[in-house]
Amino acid sequence: MRDGPLQHLIQMFSSLPGLGNRSARRIVLFLLRERAKVMVPLAQMMLRVAEEVKTCDVCGNLDMVQPCAVCQDVKRARNEICVVAQVSDLWAIERTGSFRGQYHVLGGLLSALDGIGPGQLNIASLLPRVQDESVQEVILALSATVDGQSTAHYIADQLADQASNHPVDITHLAHGVPVGGELDYLDDGTITTALRSRT
Ligand SMILES: [Zn+2]
Repeated sequence: MRDGPLQHLIQMFSSLPGLGNRSARRIVLFLLRERAKVMVPLAQMMLRVAEEVKTCDVCGNLDMVQPCAVCQDVKRARNEICVVAQVSDLWAIERTGSFRGQYHVLGGLLSALDGIGPGQLNIASLLPRVQDESVQEVILALSATVDGQSTAHYIADQLADQASNHPVDITHLAHGVPVGGELDYLDDGTITTALRSRT
């Protein structure tokens, strides 16, 4: 096939996570068969989301509204903040419906190997949130990898250093979360159990 927009589109799909050349070709052929019903609405929706989605100023979630729907929900508890590495982790926990508190998305993990320091993560903005008197517990829902654990230690140290006029418990997800397991890959039951039996 000659190089051109069609070939380019297939290449764009094949660069997406989890897709290779073969699936990219299948997707593009499917879209071309369903041009009016799927392809055009999909392209329009992608453009709209690309233009309108925002990073929540409070927690770091991605949503069409600012602050995000989770932060705006007055029915959610204000006394717990669950700290996660990525938005995908937040969405995985939300999917289970087993947590009704607040979130804080770090945007990654500390990594000596990849040269990622505290300044590159959304850590500084967590401290003032925890100062709020209603906060009683910070749940560090980070992976059991070296990076996950050093990030958890760093945050726990920062929170301990911060002179607080009210006690805050710092808890971790229970073991049972696989080593290096991103929450997104776990089934709902495992996430729910890990959250309920936090220590
Ligand atoms: Zn938010």
